[in-house]
Amino acid sequence: MPLTAIAYETERPSPDPFDQPFPPHGKPVAALINLTKRYGSTTALDNLTLALRPGEVVALLGPNGAGKSTAVKMLLGLIAPTSGTARVFGADPREATTRTRVGAMLQVSRITEMIKVREHLDLFTSYYPRPLPIADIVRIAKLQGIEDRLFGELSGGQKQRVLFALALCGNPDLIFLDEPTVGMDIEARRALWAEIRVLSAMGKTVLLTTHYLEEADALADRIIVINRGRVISEGTPAEIKRNSGGRKIRCHTKLSEDQLSALPTVTAVELISGTTVVTATDAENVVREMLSRDETLSGLEIASPALEDAFLALTKS
Ligand code: ADP
Ligand code: MG
Repeated sequence: MPLTAIAYETERPSPDPFDQPFPPHGKPVAALINLTKRYGSTTALDNLTLALRPGEVVALLGPNGAGKSTAVKMLLGLIAPTSGTARVFGADPREATTRTRVGAMLQVSRITEMIKVREHLDLFTSYYPRPLPIADIVRIAKLQGIEDRLFGELSGGQKQRVLFALALCGNPDLIFLDEPTVGMDIEARRALWAEIRVLSAMGKTVLLTTHYLEEADALADRIIVINRGRVISEGTPAEIKRNSGGRKIRCHTKLSEDQLSALPTVTAVELISGTTVVTATDAENVVREMLSRDETLSGLEIASPALEDAFLALTKS
């Protein structure tokens, strides 16, 4: 994305031709622009540019050490860039003015274990000028039944849900969730996904970091894959999968490897214990062609690459 694609009211008069890449979504609510962050000799973010558009759920997907948490901390104004720019609602995120519009659930969140869940909610909502009603927070984060428990007595999954709830207290327009489901079992993860979808339906902009590919696929309007502090791929979950080399067609066919390799969009043909496996970006048309050429074709299966495979293909460098 070109630097000029990110324009703010505070910086340029409206209407602005540089806004064009963003309709119908409008201007980004938050962005990192050519941002580099170094810790000594480690480059955590390497000339990274990304933007969050109003109301979208973006998954920042990458392996451990990719720079996900650094990007979130930068957008929260908790750390300063080595070079480049961070913007939230058109301002420097280190300025307190935007803080009340932002909520965050960080990987390392320390809150006291010695008080009750309800007391944490009372405390956090008191920090904000227009908090969400506590009843709404309890409903969204599914805290019914544990409001009167001490935070320190909760299970790991319940603690995560409370930290998620605390991110919502100020009724933020923009929410950062840094690996919100880490350590949860699949049932608890799916429950939190449903809660994140509620936020999205409320019109909130959500940036979620994850190394669970399934999670990015399930939740995100857009996935930004990062590795070693750089964007390596960006698109809808379907686009990310497509970029990873296409779908696999398995069948028994008398067509030869040469015949199959010659079909449009075929990228690979393998024979695996009697089954032919054809990889193609336009699987439907390849299948149509194969059926028209081989009336004996049988045992047909078409599989999308797991996002896991797509991710491995993308991050291989
Ligand atoms: P992720 O969240 O994707 O796992 P991080 O943003 O936490 O990645 O880290 C990116 C890189 O920056 C890693 O190599 C990590 O070791 C390094 N890093 C992060 N925070 C610090 C810090 N406070 N001091 C030194 N190095 C850091
Ligand atoms: Mg992290």
